[in-house]
Amino acid sequence: MHKYYELGETRVHALRGVSVEVRRSEFVAVMGASGSGKSTFMNILGCLDRPSSGRYLLEGVDVSQHDKRALALIRNQKIGFVFQGFNLLARTTALENTELPTLYSKVNKEERHRRAVEALEMVGLADRAEHFPSQMSGGQQQRVAVARALVNRPSILLADEPTGNLDSRTSVEIMEVFQDLNDKGLTIVMVTHEHDIAEFAKRVLVFRDGSIRKDEPVRGRPRAAEVLKTLPTLED
Ligand code: ADP
Ligand code: MG
Repeated sequence: MHKYYELGETRVHALRGVSVEVRRSEFVAVMGASGSGKSTFMNILGCLDRPSSGRYLLEGVDVSQHDKRALALIRNQKIGFVFQGFNLLARTTALENTELPTLYSKVNKEERHRRAVEALEMVGLADRAEHFPSQMSGGQQQRVAVARALVNRPSILLADEPTGNLDSRTSVEIMEVFQDLNDKGLTIVMVTHEHDIAEFAKRVLVFRDGSIRKDEPVRGRPRAAEVLKTLPTLED
């Protein structure tokens, strides 16, 4: 894929022939300096944007020519997003925040509620369903954001610096959730600037100047649950 941005007279060549295959149940970390094309790549993966040339096959379907409406439909069905800031609604409980993306789907109220509870269970927060964001730690808020991303049962979870604002223990806790979900078969692609976070993935892509410069499996990948046992808790 290539991606150009037109800015008046100038043209930015943000992706310069990126060719990559991500298989079901992979867990990929995307690294690279600022401006190297990571977000452009993620936006295309997430059907938020289209390549200028080349093709993007999502579950075998070429979506590179889809219009905005068609992309939005696919996004809602197949993609879950987690961002750096949790983007939770403040006066809204964990459960209601999690339910939000289901409002656009055709399922009824009871089913939406059931799915939100199920998603909160998957991130280990079933007991915080009625809490407001202000009553939760940063890590818990990010887990609600992950639950919200999962509620429509996507095939892919895309995360852009999901641990960007979190302390190291909390970051590893989020990686524990990701490894757990990945063990259950969820495909994850995650941008991170931190090597020790990238190590929790199964594969690392390194972008440079709009191309993939490195594509390597992670050897001796740590289990976040094990690493957590070695990290001090807040009470220590
Ligand atoms: P990264 O996420 O690795 O920091 P980006 O994908 O955001 O990189 O950007 C890649 C290149 O494309 C940069 O040179 C950036 O300035 C440019 N770019 C990104 N988005 C736009 C846009 N909407 N319009 C014009 N140029 C853009
Ligand atoms: Mg970026």
